Amino acid sequence: MIKNKSQTIRAALILLLSVTLVVIVTWFAPSLSVASSNMFFRLRGAFNAPDDVVIVAIDDQSLQRVGQWPWPRSVMATALDKLTQAGPRGVGLDVIYAEPSSPEEDRRLAAAIARNSRVVLPAQLYESASKENPANRTMVWLRPRPEFANAARGLGHAHVSPEVDGTVRGIQLSKADDHADRLWAFGLEVIRGAEQIANEDVEEKPGLLRFGPYRITVTDEAVASPLPGVSVVRQNDMLINFAGPAGSFRYYSIADLIDGKIPPSVLAGKIALIGAVAESMGDTRVAPFSRYGTGRSQGAQGMPGVEIHANIINTIRSNLSFHPLPDWAAFVASVIVILLSALTIRFFDGWRQVAILGLILLSIIAGSLFAFSRALIIPPLAPMLTGFLAVIPLLLNRALTASRELDTKLAALVGSQTGFLSTAPQSNAQSGAEFINNQWWLDLPRSLAWKLRAVDDLTTRLLSRMSFIDRILSSMDEGVLVTDLVGSIVFANPKAERLFGCDQTELIGVDFAGLLTERGVLDPLRLRQAARDAANGRSSQLEFEISTPEPRYFSLHLSALAALGASAGAATGADIIPTGTVIGLVVMISDITKRVELDRMKTETLQLVSHELRTPLTSIQGLSDVLLKFPVAADESREMLRTIHSDAVRLGEMINRYLDLTRLESGAQPLHLSPVSCQQLIAGCVRNLTLPAAERQINLRSQVDPNAPLLRADEQLLTQAVNNLLSNAIKYSPPETEVVVTAELNHKDLLISVRDQGFGVPEEARERIFEKFYRLERDADSGVVGAGLGLPLVKEIVERHGGRVTFESDASGSTFTIHLPIQPQDLAIAAH
Ligand code: ADP
Repeated sequence: MIKNKSQTIRAALILLLSVTLVVIVTWFAPSLSVASSNMFFRLRGAFNAPDDVVIVAIDDQSLQRVGQWPWPRSVMATALDKLTQAGPRGVGLDVIYAEPSSPEEDRRLAAAIARNSRVVLPAQLYESASKENPANRTMVWLRPRPEFANAARGLGHAHVSPEVDGTVRGIQLSKADDHADRLWAFGLEVIRGAEQIANEDVEEKPGLLRFGPYRITVTDEAVASPLPGVSVVRQNDMLINFAGPAGSFRYYSIADLIDGKIPPSVLAGKIALIGAVAESMGDTRVAPFSRYGTGRSQGAQGMPGVEIHANIINTIRSNLSFHPLPDWAAFVASVIVILLSALTIRFFDGWRQVAILGLILLSIIAGSLFAFSRALIIPPLAPMLTGFLAVIPLLLNRALTASRELDTKLAALVGSQTGFLSTAPQSNAQSGAEFINNQWWLDLPRSLAWKLRAVDDLTTRLLSRMSFIDRILSSMDEGVLVTDLVGSIVFANPKAERLFGCDQTELIGVDFAGLLTERGVLDPLRLRQAARDAANGRSSQLEFEISTPEPRYFSLHLSALAALGASAGAATGADIIPTGTVIGLVVMISDITKRVELDRMKTETLQLVSHELRTPLTSIQGLSDVLLKFPVAADESREMLRTIHSDAVRLGEMINRYLDLTRLESGAQPLHLSPVSCQQLIAGCVRNLTLPAAERQINLRSQVDPNAPLLRADEQLLTQAVNNLLSNAIKYSPPETEVVVTAELNHKDLLISVRDQGFGVPEEARERIFEKFYRLERDADSGVVGAGLGLPLVKEIVERHGGRVTFESDASGSTFTIHLPIQPQDLAIAAH
């Protein structure tokens, strides 16, 4: 706030300075303003001078022809007579004949002037000392000799005074000497002679001189400063609208006129001005179109005084006089320019600022040119341009402020990144300190090199930070997905790509909920609820299973992604979202298969200990307790000891089976593969179980395909599997039935089947008999020994060999079949 205030004060000060500068330029450096009007004349260009104003030039050619100036006055009389014959509308003879020459010559000239009746002669002001007091000098008129003045139509002053830069721009249409003896301008008198304007037909109004039909814009400051004894003397300043550079009007050499070489028709009805043009006569002035450094004189190529009069006449007759702007109008125009430029700098930036400033400059120049050439106003170009340029410090001030702010922000950014990487190169660490210890005097901005170094340093740090974060995300074991508020994925780490089997470009933009629910692994309603909870700040967790090809378990952890802090937003210039606003979700997907397996094993172990092991253990404990505490008869004690023994065996068997199964499942027990003869394996199994079969009066026989190939299998495990099936068939069959074990080749599988004529497996239990500890109620209650671990072990062994177990069962018995894939080499061995 304080910073803003000081900036505003500084801007106001700069504006004030600009205005002061404009005032100085307007009032104290007028040459700048007058010089700009030369530029406008050049930009506007010359226009066609009227052909009814012609100049009869006393030029170099005439001097050669007649002789050096002054000429005998009879020569001018001859020229005038020739002119008179042509019948001009008006004549201005811009030569002062103040001194007498020979009476005859003077008489001839006076007669020629009188014959014409429209000749206007010039008078000049000059300084003269009074006879009584020579120190008392006054300005008086130097007039033509009375005989010429009397013969002439009128007398006009030919006084043209240049401005500060030596250029003639205006004329005082009336001028008075120190005796308030006033003469109208030479050009005006020529017009009066040509147009026959009566003396009464002249009127002086504020800012305007009405001269017959002509209305001439003038400045009449002199009205306010009357001379003693004179009611109104005003100078009637008029700005001349020059038609072009010297030579724009039609020139005729006076020598040609004298020689009769000019046809009278070209002079008839025109205003003819006779005057000195030859450079040696020295009557030239610098005018707005004058070029410097060119022409014969090496100086300014001036305009003959007579052509300046021609321009004055043209300005009046064509109503082309300029309207001078009052100083206050120039000042207001400049202030408007200053304000517009300042506002542009304040409210616009970058290319817009440049474009608008350019537009302002263009309108100043184009508008001024329009005002000059169309509205006949001399525009205040110099003050306006000064105003325009004077606001540049404002621009500089803004640039400095912006540069300073950039420094502060860079330093803050570098500061926020310091200490991030201890592995950052030493040089960086040092420069970081340089950027942060931002003690800079005078509050001036740092150099561009400093800024570049700071940006470099920052870039290095940010890049290392990014690659660090990237490495973390890439090496995570968890899949990470980030979604926006509508649930589209905006980021996925490599693990997530692997989990979904597609790369990031395919995942970006995909609806995250759809990705999971389409695969049927998650219930859409549950997922939506979890997402809603997460968005409300309650992070939630879901678990799901993907069952193909091996079941794998995943947990899904959803949490809200909150917006950045406001300061970070401000530093990057991003739109500021209030801190903490939820802008998406972060989804972590972890593979929890191992944990789930472990949990399952824990549950199973608990089940084994709490149910299966407890029953025989309780029996052993009870019977041994009785034997210890009470005297028991010998036959009874044997019976008890037998039960204890069989329970202990059962306990041991159960523990062994469970351990076998767990070892197999966990992969801790590797397969010892070797060529196994199916015939021998089955024969061994049958042999093992002959006794239990005989006890139950069950006929056990085998039927093995002699072409059955050798198998590559773990013999011990496969024997255990076939044993389990055979012992089940014996256990769950009534006496006097038959159990047949067969082995045959079927396509690429070797099928080992165990068929019994037992009780069968009821329909409702078929899905479960391969579960651990599962037993049919019928059998659990019957006293048949078992733990529900035989079939799971068969299944595990066969699957480890790459095969599968199937079974069919009905009231007449069950058939369990082991399908084992045969490798081509096994077949080869069989053929051999
Ligand atoms: P157990 O140790 O109880 O035999 P198993 O896993 O081998 O455990 O068998 C699971 C259950 O399946 C048995 O308890 C039994 O009820 C049933 N079962 C297994 N084999 C047969 C069969 N051949 N005929 C009928 N029921 C069977």
